[in-house]
Amino acid sequence: MFNFHTYCIDDVPCLLNADYRHLEMSYPERVHLSVGIHPWQVEDDWREKMSLVRAVASENRVWAIGECGLDKARGAALSVQREAFCAHIALAEMVQKPLVIHCVRAFDELLALRRELETICKRQGREPQPWVIHGFRGNPEQAKQIMAKGFLLSFGHYYNLETLRFVFTSNRPFFLETDDHSLSVCQIYEQVAHHLDVDVAHLENLCDPCQTFFRPMIS
Ligand SMILES: [Zn+2]
Repeated sequence: MFNFHTYCIDDVPCLLNADYRHLEMSYPERVHLSVGIHPWQVEDDWREKMSLVRAVASENRVWAIGECGLDKARGAALSVQREAFCAHIALAEMVQKPLVIHCVRAFDELLALRRELETICKRQGREPQPWVIHGFRGNPEQAKQIMAKGFLLSFGHYYNLETLRFVFTSNRPFFLETDDHSLSVCQIYEQVAHHLDVDVAHLENLCDPCQTFFRPMIS
């Protein structure tokens, strides 16, 4: 079992969303960090916050960059959010770690940025880092469109059931998370297993990011 995106530590391995304010704390070994500036916290001083993120991004305990992203419903002007998000994209490429993305009503912008990155990486003869959209609630059509561009999805307590079923049958890896919800990740696994009519053990195998892109960080 793995909690892909959380703000609390329990006894399950997880990717703790530790923002720039919590980087001096020490955490148990099962706790891995994603570090970044949430789009709601992108303010005029985001560059100073970003230098704190950069300072720890290469540490072994940091497994991903983020959460970061774009939110048209809340936060600073989109142009400012975009600048900050691009700084996270560049950092993820520099330290070769996946990106955990928060995206609200900005999927076109997100896809355009992914295309730009792919063009740059192609020129350099390398693959871009994986991008994972956390707390995905879109419909199956949106999921299909963004998965076709190589994105991965993480689901929390609230999701579109048709989308979950679509992703499950597409045989692409996906992840589960509590986000800031009070349910435990075990309860999320049970809920999803029930909805997909599979065993929790089957899900555990399928939704373990260590089987996919975190493996190099463990070995
Ligand atoms: Zn979020």
